[in-house]
Amino acid sequence: MSGKDKQEFLRRIPAVNTIIAHAKATQLIDMYSHTLVAEAAAFVTAKLRADILKAGEDELANFSVNLTMAVDLLDKKVKEMVRPNLRKVINATGIVLHTNLGRAILADSAVAGIASVAGSYNNLELDLDTGERGSRYVHVEELLCQITGAEGALVVNNNAAAVLLVLNTFAQGKEVIVSRGQLVEIGGSFRIPDVMAASGATLIEVGTTNKTHLKDYQNAITTETAMVLKIHTSNYKVVGFTSEVSNEEMVELGRINHLPVMEDLGSGVLINLKKYGLQEEPTVQDAVNAGVDVVTFSGDKLFGGPQAGIIVGQKDLIEKMKKNPLTRALRVDKFTFAALEATLKLYIDEDQAITKIPTLQMLTISVEELNQRARRLSRRLKQVLAGKAKISVIDGFSQVGGGALPTADIPSILVAIDPEDISVTILEKKLRTGDIPVLARIHKEQLLIDIRTVRDEEFTLIIIAMQSALN
Ligand SMILES: *Cc1c(COP(=O)(O)O)cnc(C)c1O
Repeated sequence: MSGKDKQEFLRRIPAVNTIIAHAKATQLIDMYSHTLVAEAAAFVTAKLRADILKAGEDELANFSVNLTMAVDLLDKKVKEMVRPNLRKVINATGIVLHTNLGRAILADSAVAGIASVAGSYNNLELDLDTGERGSRYVHVEELLCQITGAEGALVVNNNAAAVLLVLNTFAQGKEVIVSRGQLVEIGGSFRIPDVMAASGATLIEVGTTNKTHLKDYQNAITTETAMVLKIHTSNYKVVGFTSEVSNEEMVELGRINHLPVMEDLGSGVLINLKKYGLQEEPTVQDAVNAGVDVVTFSGDKLFGGPQAGIIVGQKDLIEKMKKNPLTRALRVDKFTFAALEATLKLYIDEDQAITKIPTLQMLTISVEELNQRARRLSRRLKQVLAGKAKISVIDGFSQVGGGALPTADIPSILVAIDPEDISVTILEKKLRTGDIPVLARIHKEQLLIDIRTVRDEEFTLIIIAMQSALN
């Protein structure tokens, strides 16, 4: 292709003014703004220019430049510019706590709580009874104490921040004893040794990967020791020839040596999940009852609330942490408090918590119900996708995710889609990049929709997304 031919293509790119004078562009200007549409038109012409300049002979052979295609590109670009980048997706992966998909989704009452404080003034730091300045922590402290049995509570930005705050408050410039079997790394590079270093505390590792005994802790205690730390290995399990020191023994050790004992629980369950057929996970109440002085856990893992780091424990220790200047830097906003308070209120009654907190509801839903829902979606998909894809309902497994219950595969029911004309990888990509992205799994040349993490009101959206991907 000669340079002259490329020049010919470049000459055919419509001018920005021509594009925005088109009827469709006028509509867009009415809907959005002249500036936005003009900016999009400038983008389109620049993009066409760049595409032509870098195109090879073969590509240019099938290329045509005209006003209609420029206006179509403009429409696409304008929609892209006005659409939020952070937006709703449909989680069909079956991973209930998917960190990349925002972890726990909130109960309706928590969403309503956020909405009510977002668009109006509120009493975040005002005591309405006295008219005096209040503390933002009061909105949840009593509830947290009531539900966990602890004397005091504090909430910070996330659990990583909670661990940092505890260590910094009680162990800066001193030593903290931890078992080698519990030096966890959580996704997104939260590593206990790194958090320890950032807090100013020195990590004293004791025991081995598989076994740590009480005497290992005892032997490591010096005048420099500030704290004994236990970490719940939430995202892995050491199995086989293993032993850990129980909470009761740790608490006894701490008491004898006048050292606070802290437990980083990670996920923070408030309900015994074993009752609902899931693997046992230590509850926050277990740790508090055993006498652990400070317990930390995430708000948006199994607790099923907003992102937060929840700290519960002895009153005097909590008060000391509130005075640490780091607390101000790690503090949470009104949205978090609104969502947290609403979620905590559901925990007052276990049935309410199980049915209304989506994380718990999704984890405890029966296979029979999943089966019925999967069949309903499958029937509807079959109606609209005849000749385009084979649809079936199959057995499979979901995961808790979010670094919780790592070894638990929960039996689930999946809708399997076998496209006729395109590959399953292309279908997956089309669904992921659509208007309302649908995230699904691929297994053995089938696209799998795990019904556990899909809500009934999302069925129609999935059907629309599937139709548009396969047409
Ligand atoms: C998830 C987790 C963390 C980090 O919690 P974030 O809320 O994500 O900051 C820390 N420790 C343990 C044991 C965890 O499981």
